[in-house]
Amino acid sequence: MKPIPPDTVPRGGLKIDRILDPEWLREQIKERSLGFAPAGPFTLQGDLRRINQELIFRGRLTAVVRLACSRCLEEFNLEVSGPLEAQWRIVSPPEGRSGRQEDDGPRLEDLETGEIQPGGLDLDEYVLEQVILNIPMRPLCREDCRGICPVCGVNRNSGPCQCPGELKQNPFKDLEKLKL
Ligand SMILES: [Zn+2]
Ligand SMILES: [Zn+2]
Repeated sequence: MKPIPPDTVPRGGLKIDRILDPEWLREQIKERSLGFAPAGPFTLQGDLRRINQELIFRGRLTAVVRLACSRCLEEFNLEVSGPLEAQWRIVSPPEGRSGRQEDDGPRLEDLETGEIQPGGLDLDEYVLEQVILNIPMRPLCREDCRGICPVCGVNRNSGPCQCPGELKQNPFKDLEKLKL
């Protein structure tokens, strides 16, 4: 979907209720080599308001992603839904050499990250960024995932393996106790 030019946001606000285009999402995931797949539609619902020189979004993101557990390597679904609130400042475009403003419309500055984007508010991009931010660096299928045995490669979540003295050979056993 097209970005929303800030000056088209009406006084009473704009209702946002959108589902990201799955095709676009697939492309982005491939292009950016993101390590997950959508396990359902990514949606954004809420209100976009303009107050003076600011755009304010309040609403909710709903997304479930499928990704591999960093410990046992099994795939699982992770819910990354939650409330969202964001603010952007409308900044005038820089002046061109002739002293006139360049004709690419107002820009938006994300008040949290300081990032500036030209050409209006791209909510699809915003949703994707929020999903990426909410995926942990080392995702776990469950808090107490036992991982795979480094000796025989069995997934220890489905039961202990047959390796003799397997616990002694686990180089991470003592590290795990430290609860870093
Ligand atoms: Zn796991
Ligand atoms: Zn084993």
